[in-house]
Amino acid sequence: MLEVQDLGSRYGRIPALSGVSLRVGEGELVALVGANGAGKTTLLRAISGVQPVTAGSIRFDGGDIARLHARQRVQAGIVQVPEGRQVFAPMTVEDNLKLGTFARGNVSFLDAVFGLFPALADKRRELAGNLSGGQQQMLAIGRALMARPKLLLLDEPSMGLAPRLVSEIFSRIRALREVGTTILLVDQNARAALSIADRGYVMETGRIALEGAARELLHDPQVRQAYLGA
Ligand code: ATP
Repeated sequence: MLEVQDLGSRYGRIPALSGVSLRVGEGELVALVGANGAGKTTLLRAISGVQPVTAGSIRFDGGDIARLHARQRVQAGIVQVPEGRQVFAPMTVEDNLKLGTFARGNVSFLDAVFGLFPALADKRRELAGNLSGGQQQMLAIGRALMARPKLLLLDEPSMGLAPRLVSEIFSRIRALREVGTTILLVDQNARAALSIADRGYVMETGRIALEGAARELLHDPQVRQAYLGA
């Protein structure tokens, strides 16, 4: 579904991505892990079209999308949940969700999203700013789902959440994969991300250092030492 080949990107003169190749097949949950500053967010932003690329190609659904604007990529089905959630605090939960359909999708998906996240249904008329961190993360994911993504890009969904909520968020993400959503997941919590993923990539200083089946990466001595605190 997604095929990134030899991608390069830079911030001014500083390279942020070099020769990055990555693939996400239909229905797969792929985890992208690595240290702070490795380039994970930059890669997601390059795929969604908000970070310019200097080299390489991005193919999605058989077509080259590297030159499409961000909005056209959303229309094609690539929807990103940004780091830090970025819900609209002064708006209700329901209105935040409806905003998810600005470029793609339909408000009739509200019931399906409430079915996936019942806590949001209970709070549909509350202001998003009054939700807990975990609920705001579910709202951010729900808003993306309103666009019926073909590919969901999740950036650090567990950031800032208490451990109990971290496992809840990861089990919801796993559930999304079970219903057929194709997902590229970036998270600092490498163990949790790889535990729910089919395959994984490890990034180091703007490059892919390792890739493989998520289960194999979880047992890889190098990965365990560098990223899993083992
Ligand atoms: P994190 O988990 O901290 O977000 P990351 O793996 O997602 O890390 P990126 O945020 O993609 O990494 O950053 C990759 C590199 O690019 C880092 O060296 C970072 O300092 C740099 N960088 C990121 N954003 C900018 C920016 N707007 N201007 C300049 N350099 C940036």
